[in-house]
Amino acid sequence: NQLELFYQPQVDMRSRCVTAVEALLRWHHSDRGWVSPADFVPLAEEIGLIVPIGTWALRTACTTVASWPDTLRVAVNISAAQLIGQDLVANVKKALQDSRLPAERLELEITESVMLNDTVATLATLHRLRDLGVRIALDDFGTGYSSLSYLRRFPFDRIKIDQSFVREMSCQPDSGAIVRAIAGLSRELGMATTAEGVETREQLDLLVAAGCNEIQGFLFSRAVPADSIAEVCGAISEMLRQPAANC
Ligand code: C2E
Ligand code: MG
Ligand code: MG
Repeated sequence: NQLELFYQPQVDMRSRCVTAVEALLRWHHSDRGWVSPADFVPLAEEIGLIVPIGTWALRTACTTVASWPDTLRVAVNISAAQLIGQDLVANVKKALQDSRLPAERLELEITESVMLNDTVATLATLHRLRDLGVRIALDDFGTGYSSLSYLRRFPFDRIKIDQSFVREMSCQPDSGAIVRAIAGLSRELGMATTAEGVETREQLDLLVAAGCNEIQGFLFSRAVPADSIAEVCGAISEMLRQPAANC
């Protein structure tokens, strides 16, 4: 019982509202304190533990967010091992049923590497998930193999631009060009785009100018415990109302 889910807001700059939160694992270790998922998720994936952990995260996120305003979606990260397993579709269905969270409020984030596995079976699972009404996002886009054929093979609802491009946007023109290209591509394909890792106003302005209006990053908030989310969303609304914020 040392795992917890924190939630990081995602802001839509057109409506100036928090429209979603991403559920992010945190491990409160009795000796080590907070351990980052970047440290333990890869190991959990290697030893297979990510499947029960992921199932727990899915159920917890659905149950928690079901009691939040119904304008708020929740994004849950899904590992390749969960997608390869037989139970993901049934687990998602059960999590939705038990929590009574409407399917359209759940988004599942998968990374490009998932598409490297048994593609036929993976695509079939993704389609079955979509048939349940949940949305599918392609996380960390641009870091892995970034094959454009993935975008043709599955109609993702959202592409999340990796934070490495966002970080370098202001100093490296090529990162800006890549961000503009990804935003344009997803617009043409009818997919939403979210930029991750947005920390500064300059990055925000560049992203909006590049046509990327959905923003996640420390500029607005870090991931916070469930009981802090109302306060954080209130603070973000206040920040977006200020003319000085110019956003
Ligand atoms: P991710 O899914 O790409 O999540 C975004 C990561 O970027 C989070 O790190 C978040 O805290 C961080 N981040 C967000 N905004 C900023 C920013 O402005 N600046 C910086 N420097 N970082 C920012 P976190 O929480 O450490 O998670 C790392 C990764 O661990 C996640 O990357 C995801 O791949 C994995 N992970 C987390 N929770 C789960 C889970 O429930 N299941 C699975 N399978 N993987 C998870
Ligand atoms: Mg993610
Ligand atoms: Mg990501």
